[in-house]
Amino acid sequence: MTTKSAAAAALATAYGYPRQGRGRELKKAIEGYWKGAVTAEALLAAAADLRRENWQQLVDAGIEEVPTGDFSLYDHVLDTTVAVGAIPPRHRAAVDADPLDGYFAMARGTQDVAPLEMTKWFDTNYHYLVPELGPDTVFAANPAKAVGELKEALALGHDARPVLVGPVTYLQLAKPAPGVAEDFEPITLLDRLLPVYAELLAELRAAGAAWVQLDEPALVQDRTPAELNAAARVYRELGALTERPKLLVASYFDRLGDALPVLAKAPVEGLALDFTGPAAANLDDLAAVGGLPGKRLVAGVIDGRNIWINDLGASLSTLATLLGLADRVDVAPSCSLLHVPIDATLERDIDPQIARWLAFAKQKAREAALLARGLREGTGAITAELAANRADLASRAASPITRDPAVRARTAAVTPGDTRRAQPYAVRTEAQRARLGLPLLPTTTIGSFPQTTDLRLARADLNAGRIGPDTYRERMEAEVREVIAYQEKAGLDVLVHGEPERNDMVQYFAEQLTGYLATRHGWVQSYGTRYVRPPVLAGDISRPHPMTVDWFRYAQDLTDRPVKGMLTGPVTMLAWSFVRDDQPLAETARQVALALRDEVTDLEAAGAAVVQVDEPALRETLPLRAADRPAYLDWATAAFRLATSGVRADTQIHTHMCYAEFGAIMTAIDELDADVISLEATRSHMQVAGELAGAGYPREVGPGVWDIHSPRVPSTEEAVELLRAGLAAIPAERLWVNPDCGLKTRGWPETRASLDSLVGAARRLRAEL
Ligand code: GLN
Ligand code: ZN
Repeated sequence: MTTKSAAAAALATAYGYPRQGRGRELKKAIEGYWKGAVTAEALLAAAADLRRENWQQLVDAGIEEVPTGDFSLYDHVLDTTVAVGAIPPRHRAAVDADPLDGYFAMARGTQDVAPLEMTKWFDTNYHYLVPELGPDTVFAANPAKAVGELKEALALGHDARPVLVGPVTYLQLAKPAPGVAEDFEPITLLDRLLPVYAELLAELRAAGAAWVQLDEPALVQDRTPAELNAAARVYRELGALTERPKLLVASYFDRLGDALPVLAKAPVEGLALDFTGPAAANLDDLAAVGGLPGKRLVAGVIDGRNIWINDLGASLSTLATLLGLADRVDVAPSCSLLHVPIDATLERDIDPQIARWLAFAKQKAREAALLARGLREGTGAITAELAANRADLASRAASPITRDPAVRARTAAVTPGDTRRAQPYAVRTEAQRARLGLPLLPTTTIGSFPQTTDLRLARADLNAGRIGPDTYRERMEAEVREVIAYQEKAGLDVLVHGEPERNDMVQYFAEQLTGYLATRHGWVQSYGTRYVRPPVLAGDISRPHPMTVDWFRYAQDLTDRPVKGMLTGPVTMLAWSFVRDDQPLAETARQVALALRDEVTDLEAAGAAVVQVDEPALRETLPLRAADRPAYLDWATAAFRLATSGVRADTQIHTHMCYAEFGAIMTAIDELDADVISLEATRSHMQVAGELAGAGYPREVGPGVWDIHSPRVPSTEEAVELLRAGLAAIPAERLWVNPDCGLKTRGWPETRASLDSLVGAARRLRAEL
């Protein structure tokens, strides 16, 4: 490749870095502050130390322009709410009295005041706090954090670029405040919000920012013409400001589509675009609009949300194409590195053969720097690195771990018949009725019972080697005995073993499947101070031995009532893991589904009359663009059916989903062809039952009648009332009685009291029917 003059300025940058620190120091400092063990000064000092360390790590990796303002004590959308002064009235006094405590009150609530709602950040597993806006919202610029962090970075001698959530995205992520009409559209507040952004930009300029990045990931979702017009107006008006830094408008997680020409025409100095996964379409789209003459393009060619090394050669060829399309091309990971762990070299337990395929935040920063150098100095300057990268990629492609012939042969042999139950639901339900002999309105739970401190301690003891596997198993078996005896006494109809042995509903299976890897330090922020360590789908998936059958058998031997086998479905296994990027998701899902299919049929052979396969993540991995959804739902539902359709007609398949806007997946829920589905429904007062009925859903439904997210105990009357609402939509023959979700986060006292209400309500209604 030849070096064009346009490439002379190419540099490496990033939009954000993991906040927690290598030893999760931030979590410790914040939780210590909440407990009163750490002072505010100490917390803020720890945070400043982490920012300094994060910038240094980026700079050491070769990043030339570092982001600022991406750091957060809880969430960057909440930080934006503070920066634009959109404090909900119920939190106003607390924020005025003490900004730090008021900030945490908005995030977590207090005894008297509810927190902001939390929801997923686009299709990631990061949760943000939802801004609450209404016609009375008054914005006011509060540049303290943005300016303070910029000054810190500048004082350390870094070239720094502040990052803010852009105004369009901020408003799109907001919802009507409590008490405001449901149909209030936050985007109507644009005129009030823009002067506040103008002020923030002016303050940042005055503090020394040459560039400011405005993140607009909302523009990679389908937007109406009116919304696109609003985006055009935003950047026309911000562009027209005189007292402002140069503007870099960033998009990520998908292609810009119709928003690309809008931003390309806008009077801003730069755009940052994602070129990975479905966003690769940005490349052709950019050419189609004639590129970005006169503008800076930041090219997100490194997948910022997965953990695999980049194909540097492929990225260089993308970059070479882009050189002809913009005035200046810089290199970056596709999105903030918030979504990946910090450092792959800490994973000393991972087979070095596999470890060389991994790139976490630090390694991704280095890849960006290397590519920028390749652009600047020509590929000749990075020949050795390119050769090493090619060797790593080749080792991955040729590895027996990623190519298990037995797994490949089996997935290739899957026929459409394998993804369909042999009999239709109408036949199955008769066979299941005869086998199970359940009363009308059968009662059950979703799987887990309280994960008590004792259970967690036993697991910690096992992991630390303080107790052996036999002692651990005995403790778990004792718990299963208690849970079974309790459920019999409580009068539940379909029992569960309670999942005491499961650390997590995905990790538990990942640890037992070949092809899955666990990390030791691979923490990723889920929300606030909660971090998860997603397992890695690294290779072809197979099941060396049954995973849950012994536990099922142990529980079923204790009772004459049916015990449900309990598994996590293929879509959720993928959604809460780092997935392979070297084959279609559908293929990985098929492999996981076949492993689960064997488990389902083994459970059936061990006597399970009911097997539940949870798919709480089906809705959340729905692609951002509607055009991509049918293909996703097609493979996702096929994978579920592949896992569950190997059983006899009289074996009842249940599935479960947590709260979601089910509207977009109604057809998919039907396509799962599960005999029974349980869903979260209490808070929406059984709305989902009506939606399913409206969509003609023909099978059995258990809309939850106990909100397990709160310790509050529902009365029998409340449960009766909810069930009546359920019965208005679903006939009694097809209605189940169950809580909203698993009980692992609940204590025993409220569990006993609530299940009493639930069983009492079912009995009362049965007597009436
Ligand atoms: N079976 C799981 C449990 O009860 C389901 C959890 C979930 O849906 N998130 O814990
Ligand atoms: Zn759930």
